[in-house]
Amino acid sequence: MNLILIGPPGVGKGTQAELLEKRIGLKTLSSGVIFRQEIEAETDLGRLAKRYIDHGRLVPSGVTIEMMAKRIRSAEARKNGFILDGFPRAIDQAVALSEMEEDMDTVIDAVISLEVPDEILVSRLSGRVGCTKCGAIYHMTNKPPKRDWVCDNCNSPLFVRSDDQPDAIQQRLQIFHDTTMPVVSYYEGMGMLTRVDARQEPEKVYLDILAAAAARESKASQ
Ligand code: AMP
Repeated sequence: MNLILIGPPGVGKGTQAELLEKRIGLKTLSSGVIFRQEIEAETDLGRLAKRYIDHGRLVPSGVTIEMMAKRIRSAEARKNGFILDGFPRAIDQAVALSEMEEDMDTVIDAVISLEVPDEILVSRLSGRVGCTKCGAIYHMTNKPPKRDWVCDNCNSPLFVRSDDQPDAIQQRLQIFHDTTMPVVSYYEGMGMLTRVDARQEPEKVYLDILAAAAARESKASQ
């Protein structure tokens, strides 16, 4: 099964991807996590991406599509299926992904739109900390790590993202509405979209995602 999780920053895409990977073995392909790993490793792509990410702007689609195409083609992603978290985020990326599906004879089974009002997102993003190494996400009030500033999964140090600062948060929400919402409409028009209320507890959101994916799969096989 291959899924796309789409939604504004702070909606819980990363948390849900983590649950789907742990419980049903889908490989998470998170464009944001991959960019942060490239930045940490000080690669050319990382240096380029950092200039955009620090200001809450989107990295140009050309390099983003190339980076994600490589991951989607990998044996690891094709073994049990994958979750796209944070990609596609603009119409040109969605069109490129549709072309990749044809070229690679892979299908996206379901697109899940996670939805939460902007006010809630701002408070979620404000206390967020993450792990650069494995991508795990914590929240200082809602989901603190067991030890201060240390990842429960891999013991690496935790950090506050440069783009979780107030100005960058507003910029990212604006970009979501202007540039990513058309992607939601694109998939809705193709009959692939299910909307999930992401104000609910993560467990309930997870169950809604599974139910939506199962319903899409059974519809496709009829
Ligand atoms: P995320 O962790 O998904 O919030 O992504 C962090 C940042 O990485 C975003 O604010 C963008 O600057 C960049 N980024 C992630 N995914 C994409 C994408 N599909 N297209 C362009 N930029 C992206």
